Amino acid sequence: MEGGDIKNYEVIIIGGGPAGLTAGLYTSRSRFNTLLIEIGLLGGQMTTTEVIENYPGFPQGIHGDELSRLMEEQAKRFGLEVVSQEVVEVKLEGERKLVKTDESTYLCETLIICTGNEYRKLGIPGEKEFTGKGVSYCATCDGAFFKDSQVVVAGGGDSALTEALYLTKFAKELTIIHRRDAFRGTKIYQERVFANPKIKLLWNSVIQEIKGDSIVRSILIKNVKTGGITELNIEGVFLFVGLSPRTQFLKGLVNLDEAGYIITDENCETSVKGIFAAGDCRKKLLRQVATAVGDGAIAAFATEKYLEDRK
Ligand SMILES: Cc1cc2nc3c(=O)[nH]c(=O)nc-3n(C[C@H](O)[C@H](O)[C@H](O)COP(=O)(O)OP(=O)(O)OC[C@H]3O[C@@H](n4cnc5c(N)ncnc54)[C@H](O)[C@@H]3O)c2cc1C
Repeated sequence: MEGGDIKNYEVIIIGGGPAGLTAGLYTSRSRFNTLLIEIGLLGGQMTTTEVIENYPGFPQGIHGDELSRLMEEQAKRFGLEVVSQEVVEVKLEGERKLVKTDESTYLCETLIICTGNEYRKLGIPGEKEFTGKGVSYCATCDGAFFKDSQVVVAGGGDSALTEALYLTKFAKELTIIHRRDAFRGTKIYQERVFANPKIKLLWNSVIQEIKGDSIVRSILIKNVKTGGITELNIEGVFLFVGLSPRTQFLKGLVNLDEAGYIITDENCETSVKGIFAAGDCRKKLLRQVATAVGDGAIAAFATEKYLEDRK
């Protein structure tokens, strides 16, 4: 066992997005001594979302920042303790779990991993600046804002193709920009894309820069074969160049699928007793605020049961 002055908690939650904040609300309200560790902003991906229109209870939609603030306030009302640190490693210490951060080390009886999922970024000029102002990583979330608009989708895998097909419900015209001359995505999606009259294809091309003022106005596109640059006036840029779950710090402690998502049972329990996972970092069908909140509640309840059964 490392050092004698390590703080011990009944529950540690890693990640303060909607899954982590919900788990924290439940366990704190049930009077379990709980610490939530968050490296970024409480609210997680919600803080990068302008308006969330599909979270029940807010008929006019709610700003991501505001929903984050409300969830934080509600969880803290019941005594949830929060520290701003990055978890870098988790190890087993008998039945307890040792959680190492960039600043400290903690021990806990149970752990709930809620570290989310991040969209891979292109890292091009304008991408960060215009995220939420025309640049999006989520068609289900933001597609409706682009009714009758000119939009582009970057990517060539399943998510790019399915999200592009979904976006044609709203967009006037949509261009898929792909760095190769063929898609990687499933054949049936390719067929649907090729058959859709709203979709244009731009092969061997990458987005080099996103330009605008308060919102996106145009993009610079580079042809990777010729090196030629063209400018295209558009209103929306959807980037689907891959997703990555934030589970690298686990270093094989719990079972992951081939993409790195944590495999759990229906009660959100992982392959290790007393370690649960909730939200986007978990292998599941739909990654949204509503499902993250549902997972957070289930994982918290399963955690409470685990702790009570051991008494
Ligand atoms: C641009 C955009 C728009 C979206 N719009 C909608 C929408 O309209 N409706 C909807 O329902 N969903 C929307 N989503 C999806 C939704 O935000 C996510 O499904 C949801 O936030 C997932 O919640 P989570 O708690 O699982 O993870 P996250 O929200 O990703 O939170 C995880 C948290 O864990 C923290 N973390 C990660 N690793 C560590 C570590 N090692 N140590 C400490 N902290 C760590 C992160 O900083 C982050 O704050 C959108 C997503 C994006 C990106």
